[in-house]
This record gives sequence, structure tokens and C-alpha cells, in this order.
Amino acid sequence: MQKKIFDAAVIGAGASGLVSAILLAREGVKVALLESQKRGGKKILASGNGHCNIANEKVSAKNYYGANAGLLKAVLNNCSLEKTERFFNSLGLEFVKKSDGKIFPKSMQASSVLNLLEAEVKRLKIPLYSEVKNLKIDKNFNVCFEGGELKAKNIILATGSPAAPQLGGSFSGLEIAKSFGHNIIKPIPALVPLISSTEICKRLAGVKVKAKVRFFADGKEISSKEGDFLFTKYGVSGLSVLDLSLKASLALNSGRKCHIIVDFFYDKNKDEQLFYLKSRLNTKRNLPLSLWLGAIINSKLADYLLKELNLQNAKESDLNSKKLKALIEHFKNYKIEIEATREFKYAEIAYGGVNSKEIDLNMQSKKKKGLYFVGEITDFAGDRGGYNFYFAWASAFKLDAKRFF
Ligand SMILES: Cc1cc2nc3c(=O)[nH]c(=O)nc-3n(C[C@H](O)[C@H](O)[C@H](O)COP(=O)(O)OP(=O)(O)OC[C@H]3O[C@@H](n4cnc5c(N)ncnc54)[C@H](O)[C@@H]3O)c2cc1C
Repeated sequence: MQKKIFDAAVIGAGASGLVSAILLAREGVKVALLESQKRGGKKILASGNGHCNIANEKVSAKNYYGANAGLLKAVLNNCSLEKTERFFNSLGLEFVKKSDGKIFPKSMQASSVLNLLEAEVKRLKIPLYSEVKNLKIDKNFNVCFEGGELKAKNIILATGSPAAPQLGGSFSGLEIAKSFGHNIIKPIPALVPLISSTEICKRLAGVKVKAKVRFFADGKEISSKEGDFLFTKYGVSGLSVLDLSLKASLALNSGRKCHIIVDFFYDKNKDEQLFYLKSRLNTKRNLPLSLWLGAIINSKLADYLLKELNLQNAKESDLNSKKLKALIEHFKNYKIEIEATREFKYAEIAYGGVNSKEIDLNMQSKKKKGLYFVGEITDFAGDRGGYNFYFAWASAFKLDAKRFF
């Protein structure tokens, strides 16, 4: 039987691969989509806690890390929120903008994003090969896999990163890129919980509070975030930690000594907190401190920190100004050593990938004509907040259909 010939084979039917295939097929490019899983796009389904944070109003180059600033700029300049919204509108999806700039599908259901992308693939009659195993691509772009083969004039690698292997994350696209002579910037887990052996983490595992978290590398403050903070048996997590974890991954990977300082009283400065706590003291009522403090902050956290201050048996009347100040200092500047990040299984993305200095402004390989890269397989990594999906869509928009015939 004769091999089917396509203008382009898109490898990976996730975020960037689906959009690439749709955009090219709409321009008349004969495209095939190949996916290793039964259903691609599992990260879309799991994203944003099932809501899919699809983009961010505040997107700028500052939200990304990668080797090739020029390429990043070109990708972002070629895209806009309006263009992204128009594309998704054309599928039947509407956007809703949250006050913090995050953008979601109006349904607030990640499944509607994947379902509509897949419906468009179907409408455009793009052949979708799923559960593709042992994929091999030779230098003439003959594509072989268990039970099938095809030939493509161009290859678009959209296989994503090794993050979240349970959702399709893998190194396989990077191996293909390597076989065409590309250098890979070693992927490291990013947007990921952090590991700490500081005693408090194990002791308070499961306790979630609001806090301000400041991240330090070699004693220098690198980043700070406010929001949910979660103690776990391996270390720390919660949105505040995940939000700063990309910078933490980079610092830890370069061997820097890292710690965080957590402020459990971050809504007030020290003087305001002192004034507030003094105003709450009632020596006639004279509650045990554990009850007195447990009324305004998580009681397990209050008990643990009071014990560290040797105040576990103290009462309101025991708190003089000096002790109050020491208490505030302890609750506002709690140091937790950070030793590592958790592994890829727990990461939303990977930092690293195909060295973007080896990719031209059309997303084409500088090493092999006709080979293209979109999405997270490149070394670009974005902050949390919709920036990684935005890069997936934006890099697909950068493909120029005219080059594929
Ligand atoms: C739990 C979780 C939540 C997230 N939430 C958000 C969020 O709310 N907002 C945001 O911006 N980002 C989020 N992300 C990150 C976002 O999902 C990724 O950055 C984005 O999906 C990358 O798109 P991609 O097309 O490069 O890769 P993917 O979407 O991962 O797609 C790659 C596809 O290629 C397939 N594949 C891999 N290897 C092969 C192969 N050899 N042959 C064929 N197919 C292959 C995979 O199965 C997959 O379907 C989240 C990630 C995770 C894990």
C-alpha cells in the first residue's frame, strides 16, 4: 500500500498541536495529527483545577524564561489577547476575565476547551492517529509507528514537556529533536511544590493558611507572593509557593542555597500588628494564648509557634510588650529551608527543552529545514496564571501556512 503523504505532520495533540493543526488546515495545508495517548490534551483537562486558565490579560515577556529573547518577543508581538479570543470564538468558546487578569472559558470548564478544539479537528477532517507507539522519524520525514506509517513534507513537534507524565508529559519529543542535532537545555520541574526537611512542615502537614512567602537564594530575596500556603509532609505548597516556584527551580538547579521567609501576619506591618494584638488583650478574661491567638489564626499553627516560643502554657496576662514583639517577629519572619523541588509528576511545566537559540522566527529548526517546534517542547517557561497556554497558542499562531505547501 502506498504511504499517505501530508504537507505537515503535527506530533502531539495537546494545546499547541491542536491549534497548529487547526490553523494550518484552515489555510488548506494537508495536515495529520499524531498522538501517543488515547486522547490528547489531558493537561488542558487538568488545567486551572479543571477550569483552564487559558490566558492572562497582563501577558508580557517578563512572564517568561528562555534562551532566545528575540524569538520570545517575535512570538508575543505576533499574538494578542484579541487574536487569541477571536480564534477561540471561532471554535464557539467565549472568554471570561477575572479581576486579577486571569482568563478562563466562560463555562469555567476545561473540558469545553478541549471538546471544541477536537470538534474543529473533526470538522476540518484532519486525520488523527491516536495511541501512536514507538514513533520514529527519519531525516526524510518518513514517520513510522506501530501499525502505521506516513510521509510528511514538514514535521511540527508539539509533544510538550516531561512535566506531569500521568497526563502525557514525556521526553520523547526531545529525543526526536536530539536526533536532528538539537541541543536540549536540561528540563527541570517547575511550577511545583518545594521540598523542605524543616520540622514544622511535617508537624503541620495539611494545614493551609494565608501568608506572604518571600523566596531567598544565597541570602538574596528573589521573589515574593501572597496567598494560600500549605504545609505538607514533604515541604511546602499552595498557590503562593507554586507562584514563585519557577524562580525557585532555577535557583535550586544552579546549586544556590535557598530558603523562604513566611509572614503569617502579612496583612499588617509590625507596628500595626502590635497595636492590634495589644487591643485584643484582656487580662481580666485572661485566656490561654493558644485560645486567644487561635481565634485569629489557624489554631494548630498558633500552638506550634507558641510552643517554639515557650509560651504554650502562657495566658494573656503573661504577654508584656517584649514578649508580644518576639511573638510578632516569630509569626512574621518564619524561616523554612528549601532543599529541592518535587519531581516531574507534581510539576505543571518544565523549565528547559529545545534550545530556542536553534529555532528561527518561523518556529523552524535552524538545524533541519522543515522541522518546527511549538509549545512547551521549546525551552520557554512561563509563570503561573495562563502564561503557558498563552505561549502554546501564540507559538502555533507563528507558523506561516505558506511555508508548508
Ligand atoms: C496539572 C496542570 C495544570 C495546568 N494548568 C495550567 C493553566 O491553568 N494555565 C496554563 O497556562 N498552563 C497550565 N498548565 C501548563 C500547560 O498545560 C502546558 O504548558 C501546555 O499544555 C503545553 O502545551 P503543549 O502543546 O506544548 O504540550 P501538551 O499540552 O502537554 O501536549 C503535548 C501532547 O503531545 C503528546 N505526546 C507526547 N509525546 C508524544 C509522542 N512521542 N508522540 C505523539 N504524541 C506525543 C502528549 O500526550 C500530549 O497530548 C498546567 C499543567 C498541568 C500539568
